[in-house]
Amino acid sequence: MTDPEPPASRRALRTAGVGAPSSRRRARRAARRRRALVLGGAAALVLWGVIALTSALLGAAGEQDAVDAQSARSAAPVPWATALPVPTMVGTATAAPSADAQPSAEPTEGICADAAVAAALAAGDDVAVIAAAGGAPAFREAVARGAAPCIDLADPGRIWVVVNKLRAYAVPDYAPSSLVAAGSVPGGNQAILRADAAAALQSMSDAARIAGAEFGVQSGYRSFGMQQSIYNAHVEQRGVAATELVSARPGYSEHQSGLAIDVVPCGNGCGGLDDLAGTAADQWIRAHAWEHGWIVRYEDGYTPITGYAYEPWHLRYVGVDLARAYHDGGFHSLEEFFELAPAPDYAD
Ligand SMILES: [Zn+2]
Repeated sequence: MTDPEPPASRRALRTAGVGAPSSRRRARRAARRRRALVLGGAAALVLWGVIALTSALLGAAGEQDAVDAQSARSAAPVPWATALPVPTMVGTATAAPSADAQPSAEPTEGICADAAVAAALAAGDDVAVIAAAGGAPAFREAVARGAAPCIDLADPGRIWVVVNKLRAYAVPDYAPSSLVAAGSVPGGNQAILRADAAAALQSMSDAARIAGAEFGVQSGYRSFGMQQSIYNAHVEQRGVAATELVSARPGYSEHQSGLAIDVVPCGNGCGGLDDLAGTAADQWIRAHAWEHGWIVRYEDGYTPITGYAYEPWHLRYVGVDLARAYHDGGFHSLEEFFELAPAPDYAD
């Protein structure tokens, strides 16, 4: 928005005669003289002289004020040019914002005041939301410090959803709107996933196979009902306490989001979940899964935070941007990443 000329300084400039052609001023002065003569009083002429003199004196003072105001404006820094961080220019050679460029939001308003963030959220484009927020580290930081109320970590349709023993699905039998086959990875014909997670699994699987660290997928999306069956089977086998370290209650499993997989090592055929630790696939996953948007969700030594025993096979898709920020930031749980309360156990 253009800064409007303050009314006071416009008045001052008018009083000082700035902008009025001298011929018009002379004509008006002559007209006033004629009117004064018509009135026929010397007193009127004297009065006019006093008024004219006062007006000139006031005008001079006003003009000085206007000049001061103008020089103050030009000397003062343009607020957004210094207060905002230098934006990252993508796909343009422009080095500096143009003179009439306007900020999309004041820094104090946070990422949720940004029109591009709002538009990407409305469009359901999570990747664009993170980009518009200034990238994954900025996104994470804003969410973690509670400065991004438009980002809902409980929304299971978003790649940033956090599900744990204290964060159940608000709709217990939630299911993703669209699920696809896990792709041409070993076991892929038996698992379904959200489309973005399936594409990322394919790229990760291809890279691992090329590196001689092939793995397959044993489990992807699980419905509330499927999770209930699995949980119940575990309870029958080992009791509640041991089950809850290895299997989520229905309505609390990451698998229900369509964003989680369990993987097994493959070579000459594929092994089971318990065969993964220590294999080439395991080592490759820990080093490279993040490059494809996946994190090892339940790391060794983080049971007091995640609530689950070490599961090298359980991978969670968060997208390439968040996974890179997670890796580069040295995080070991989504709870730490978003500075959420540890979830070692259920509330009841
Ligand atoms: Zn799992």
